[in-house]
Amino acid sequence: MAALQPVRGTQDLLPDAFRRHRAVIDTARGVAERYGYQEIATPIFEFTEVFARPIGATSDIVSKEMYTFADRGGEEITLRPEYTAGIVRAVMSNGLTQNLPLKFFAAGPMFRYERPQKGRFRQFHQIDAELIGAAQPVADVELISFAAEILDALGVLKHTVLELNTLGDTPSRHAYRAALVEYYNGHRAGLSEDSLRRLETNPLRILDSKDESDKRINAEAPNFADYLTPEAKDFFAEVCAGLTALGIRYVLNPRLVRGLDYYCHTAFEFITTSLGAQGTVLGGGRYDGLMKVMGGPETPGVGWAAGIERLALLIEEPAPSPRPIALVPLGKEAELLALQLAQSLRRAGFSIELGYSGNLSRRMQRANKIKARAAVILGDNEIAKQVAAVRDLDSGEQSDVPLASLAERLAAFR
Ligand code: ATP
Ligand code: MG
Repeated sequence: MAALQPVRGTQDLLPDAFRRHRAVIDTARGVAERYGYQEIATPIFEFTEVFARPIGATSDIVSKEMYTFADRGGEEITLRPEYTAGIVRAVMSNGLTQNLPLKFFAAGPMFRYERPQKGRFRQFHQIDAELIGAAQPVADVELISFAAEILDALGVLKHTVLELNTLGDTPSRHAYRAALVEYYNGHRAGLSEDSLRRLETNPLRILDSKDESDKRINAEAPNFADYLTPEAKDFFAEVCAGLTALGIRYVLNPRLVRGLDYYCHTAFEFITTSLGAQGTVLGGGRYDGLMKVMGGPETPGVGWAAGIERLALLIEEPAPSPRPIALVPLGKEAELLALQLAQSLRRAGFSIELGYSGNLSRRMQRANKIKARAAVILGDNEIAKQVAAVRDLDSGEQSDVPLASLAERLAAFR
């Protein structure tokens, strides 16, 4: 029955998967605090124009990946495909452009209509960082080191390579664009249909093409480095020097152009070979033109986003949740007492599992199945003596413990 399946490209995060997912977010959140990035949340849907204009009509996201619909009031709505545009919109809507620089961290779901495969979904999750209002290369360096620190804390950094490129400033990009158009026009016959279209709309993106024939043509394409203005060159040199000073290794990749149209200067990706084709775990760059494009004051910005699902595949098994203590009431009177005991023990910080039904052996089976550390058995005899039978489920040892000192005894099992 189709309706009982999750929609293609979406998945349930069952508890084991969710623990990995949460480990990624919790680790990132901890590092974010030390770097002074404050967590925010923006809505999961926005007016379509929030994404369409800044991301650019020629990008993959806007041209074919957005979940866009008219809501019941006729508003054009899009489920967010990325964080940056929404966060920049939030800065403007909340009048925060006077408080620069702003450093934001966020984590949440994204939606893109893509062909589902390993590491590629239609609903996926990102952690994200944005540093808005700092134009200096040191901001790029710190932001990249923040990303590297998270990957390191997740044990993933050693499996990745940081690729780095510059997209220069506006004059550099104009000069390079003209050179590219001239070069590709001389190779039209070999270009894919997609790239012929990009040649009209966004020739830089041809460099990013995965088509084999395009790739051969790209191998001989002009290099951005030859078209950088002295200012853009200096900026990039400072970014590189900063990374080196922090011991962050990188390789230059002149073909690295980010999918989104508003990037300038620094572009970077942390790439792994452990995930097959979906090798980019974290990508970002500078987007000085974005806020202006969205109708705000000219404001520099730099940011990155990482796919939580891809990171979750790479991390070690996270620490398991603490083992619970099973309360095993036997008989009507014990049920009520167990309910009260469970409440007070939970308030004291214990993780308590209460058996709901069954005889002693059924409930003990259940206690073992949930890997309880100990069982607290309460029957009529125990109640009469105001004790509970506490069984260590690892050693099998059992003894009566006065109810009044139960918490003290159970503390040994934490
Ligand atoms: P890709 O080249 O893999 O399509 P992208 O350039 O579209 O990536 P970004 O927009 O930079 O990716 O998003 C940042 C990160 O989000 C990616 O590096 C990746 O880890 C993750 N990501 C992007 N799209 C998906 C998806 N459909 N499913 C799962 N993760 C994704
Ligand atoms: Mg993509």
